[in-house]
Amino acid sequence: MRSLKELVRPNILALAPHSIAREENAGYTAHVFLDANENPYNKPYNRYPDPLQRELKEAIAKVKNVESKQIFLGNGSDEAIDLCYRIFCQPGIDNVVAIEPTYSRYKTYADINDVEYRAVPLDDDFQLNAERLLSACDKQTKLIWICTPNNPTGNNINTKEIEKVLRTFNGIIVIDEAYSDFSRQRTFRERLEEFPNIIVLNTFSNAWGCAAIRLGMAFAQEDIIQFFNKVKQPYNISSLTQEQAIEALRNRFDTDEWVRILLGERNRMLQAFSELPSCVKVYPTDANFFLARMTDAQATYDYLANQGIIVRNKTQVTLCDNCLRITIGARAENSELLGALRRFK
Ligand code: PMP
Repeated sequence: MRSLKELVRPNILALAPHSIAREENAGYTAHVFLDANENPYNKPYNRYPDPLQRELKEAIAKVKNVESKQIFLGNGSDEAIDLCYRIFCQPGIDNVVAIEPTYSRYKTYADINDVEYRAVPLDDDFQLNAERLLSACDKQTKLIWICTPNNPTGNNINTKEIEKVLRTFNGIIVIDEAYSDFSRQRTFRERLEEFPNIIVLNTFSNAWGCAAIRLGMAFAQEDIIQFFNKVKQPYNISSLTQEQAIEALRNRFDTDEWVRILLGERNRMLQAFSELPSCVKVYPTDANFFLARMTDAQATYDYLANQGIIVRNKTQVTLCDNCLRITIGARAENSELLGALRRFK
């Protein structure tokens, strides 16, 4: 691995961390806070939240089996994705490499940050070829994006191929595991020591049922996490979000139960889709959604929208022509979708 000195943007290496008086000066023992221009009234919302979300990180560390200092929390994992560019990629100079098709925000944030984005198509069964991916890299490649289970294809990206990339590439590899709670694949979060150049993403938006609170996680070695802390907005996670996430972690058995139910529904949906005349192919999935190739995706999409049912039309995405991406919903929602499709001529 190239050293972080070589990988991190020079202006970020030089950046002084934002200073917060109560963080620096015995804030824990103080009892009068006249340092941050807050209003003393309207408790408990009058105070800024903990900028490093310590209590929440302790709770996440226990559940996810990592150390608190190996966690960055973002306003959705989208914030972590954006920060990866802002920490590592010099606009107009550096590039990143990603699989295709994959989560579209990697490219959007590359465009926003003026960073060249190189997309390497997956093969016919949406699998990664490590050699092909690596051959798209050069010395200005700072990041590789690998999403597993991959969005929108739903499948796990082969662990052995990912390991080849990890062993060969000397920049940062971001492994986005937004859907890993639905997957049988071993998480790379457990392998931060073995692969010190990985950043593993996860989110409260999917299995945890907390998309509304906007909370994403990045797991990495502490020296990488420190750059996230330096670059992030000082108070990027609201008190309400921190409290709600702690509550969700306390009720984690609900999450396990939801995942169990959704996996059962996933089996039912895959089976039903494979029997639909309007469906050409259902792709294997390890996520809480699946990709289906239709005889006419646009017509199916329009028909469903007319019935008040919204799915994702992926027709415009490379290698996904005529495909719909369908989220596994509650049993009644899934049944309504299937009923509508069975009536569709
Ligand atoms: N990564 C992937 C692969 C996604 O599909 C999504 C959207 N669920 C995200 C990241 C962003 O999730 P969020 O910002 O809600 O954490």
